[in-house]
Amino acid sequence: MAKTTKSSQQQSTISWGEYASIYLESIERTKLELRQIDWEMQMTLSEKQRLFGQNVTRLLAYIGQQDYSFTFGEALRTQEQADIYAKSGKGITHSLHIKKLAIDLNIFSPGGIFLTEVKDLEKFGKYWESLNTDNTWGGRWHLHPDSDHYQCNDNL
Ligand SMILES: [Zn+2]
Repeated sequence: MAKTTKSSQQQSTISWGEYASIYLESIERTKLELRQIDWEMQMTLSEKQRLFGQNVTRLLAYIGQQDYSFTFGEALRTQEQADIYAKSGKGITHSLHIKKLAIDLNIFSPGGIFLTEVKDLEKFGKYWESLNTDNTWGGRWHLHPDSDHYQCNDNL
């Protein structure tokens, strides 16, 4: 008869916020390779998409470090969907979501309140823009602020 040994389920003694802080510190220590790329050099779309992904990872950790939480909104969008949004006034046909260079995040306060106001999300927008000179936060757009939207501008 097989002996069943119950694997020890260790209780996590570290909070998500603490974990995120450690993660961010480790990133700062090692420096992200792609961040070192000279911006005068031509990046391929694939390199830019991966840099975007790394910076999104950093943003998510930063959100956790503040004890905020999030759910994922839209990341990749098809051209067909972008055209539908454009017709209904919800978006534009040349959205960077089509190029995998944008993501929408639904951010919640430490108390669990879903945040939609630009002023409540500005610290995350500022952090996002500090990660790369091509990063733009949708909360900056005066005409139609899009405070859940984080993108890396495509100047390829
Ligand atoms: Zn978006």
